[in-house]
Amino acid sequence: MPRRDYYKILGVAKDAKPREIKKKYRELAKKYHPDANKGSKKAETQFKVLSEAYSTLSNTKKRREYDRKHPSRGPSRKRTTEDWSPPPGGRWGYGFGNYETRGRAQYDGSFSRTATEETPPPDPNAPTRGFDLQFMVDVPFTTVALGGTIPYIYEKYVECNACVGTGESSGETCKTCEGKRRVVKDVSLDVKIPPGVADKYVLRIQDEGGAGMNGGPSGDLFLKICTEPHPNFKRKKSDIYAETLISPELAEKGGTLNVETLDAVKTIEVEEGTLTGEELRLPGEGAAILWGKKRGDFIVKFAISDG
Ligand SMILES: [Zn+2]
Repeated sequence: MPRRDYYKILGVAKDAKPREIKKKYRELAKKYHPDANKGSKKAETQFKVLSEAYSTLSNTKKRREYDRKHPSRGPSRKRTTEDWSPPPGGRWGYGFGNYETRGRAQYDGSFSRTATEETPPPDPNAPTRGFDLQFMVDVPFTTVALGGTIPYIYEKYVECNACVGTGESSGETCKTCEGKRRVVKDVSLDVKIPPGVADKYVLRIQDEGGAGMNGGPSGDLFLKICTEPHPNFKRKKSDIYAETLISPELAEKGGTLNVETLDAVKTIEVEEGTLTGEELRLPGEGAAILWGKKRGDFIVKFAISDG
């Protein structure tokens, strides 16, 4: 009976459509194909596991059978995960997990770490640094443009409380962590989004990665900012563009109009004889520049409604 979580391995939701599964598989297969990894044992294992997962989930009958045997499997919670499972005999790896943020499983091949530092330290009691964690995070358009704080929940390794990170209690293997000295736990963090940060910028948050072992330091948390699209606004560097529909009457005769900017409502003058495509610039109402010291412009782009 398979013991691995095939949904997690492929980084898809439990109800993922076959097309989505195929797409994810192709992305990951390309990345972990032995030909592309010059004899890396780790990549080879991952490729094998990936193929196994795909052969099951891509087959309707096998998938149904798998779901029946593993009713609780699949990323049901809207959480991030550190990784899926350790390679046989190995320790937890990097980057092959699903980058899941608020329920949207994402994967970005270029954003994962290659397998370096693979050999575990020979002394199990030597201080070891915790893992760096890398996730993508969806941030609302306005928060990216003007800065702010977002709550972020993710899973990471923390020291086992039951055995205080020793792996043993009363001379026996600790039952809580099964001797691993650390346990996976949900943590939440208020993440500061710098004002006007670029889309796809990677924030490094020191010491918020996995806990170290034997007194070693924690790893870092890396969050890649993915700007959520806005229904009306588009951003070009520090300027914000907003398509604004006006009536033919207002366009012809001119008059005042209230428009919503990023953080205010402004009354603007529509000139007499305004045409579709004409723009009105509101200086200093755009996205933050220089980490909030200045702001770009807000550009109203007029479109005349049909009636
Ligand atoms: Zn323990």
